[in-house]
Amino acid sequence: MLVSAKDMLTKAKKGKYAVGQFNINNLEWTKAILLTAEENKSPVILGVSEGAAKYMGGFKTVTNMVNGLLEDLKITVPVALHLDHGSYEGSYKAIEAGFSSIMFDGSHYPIDENIAKTKEFLKIAEEKGLSLEAEVGSIGGEEDGVVGTGELADPLECKMIADLGVTILAAGIGNIHGQYPKNWTGLDFGVLRNIIKETGETPLVLHGGTGIPEDMIKESISLGVVKINVNTECQLSFTAATRKYFEDNKDKEAKGFDPRKVLAPGVEAIKNTVKEKMDLFGSTNKA
Ligand SMILES: [Zn+2]
Repeated sequence: MLVSAKDMLTKAKKGKYAVGQFNINNLEWTKAILLTAEENKSPVILGVSEGAAKYMGGFKTVTNMVNGLLEDLKITVPVALHLDHGSYEGSYKAIEAGFSSIMFDGSHYPIDENIAKTKEFLKIAEEKGLSLEAEVGSIGGEEDGVVGTGELADPLECKMIADLGVTILAAGIGNIHGQYPKNWTGLDFGVLRNIIKETGETPLVLHGGTGIPEDMIKESISLGVVKINVNTECQLSFTAATRKYFEDNKDKEAKGFDPRKVLAPGVEAIKNTVKEKMDLFGSTNKA
């Protein structure tokens, strides 16, 4: 059964580790991530962007697919199904379809409007027992066409949103979605410390987890980051493994054209990436 991300993140905060959010794109992705979480006895958050939900057919299809897999694969670790960067309308649709966790991304609204809309979702989240992630300022890079500037969040604005009682807070600390540019200057731990000073116990999330050096990931966790979003890294490992399948002419071998065979190396690659991240974040054996 799907659960809210609240308990797993509260435990992570106490245990000083982070739970990974791994974004899904299809059945293979979802199965690979769920099986890896089960094998590693790790809690897990499945992230779904509105674009990915649309690609898979819609929110209802995603919820039913995930619920079906939890049952058929006998998954026992805590799993949250989380809307990633939800719009105002999209957040309502995902809640209606049975998602157990919502990120309402009001970061592009003026702060007063972001607060008003976040409050609206907070009320629903409390009624339905869902976790709610909110965002302040913008995080760099591009996600489904939303371009950010890589700016740093204002700690006082973070406090305003954290004080509402949201479950998770996303705030830019120099992190960027997608692949990092060569001239990237790294995470700004000074800003992170100031945000934590203002937001206290509110769990913080690091978006754009792909390509952040391991020591920076570990330092963020030691300072209080409890959720780390991984998306691009699984895409890169899946595509590299699939490319190798064709380069090695495996598709020309007997039944090598069978889609289940074609997709198998990519699935294994996703599983390896997810396991590496769970070990790095410290969530292995924490379910
Ligand atoms: Zn993000």
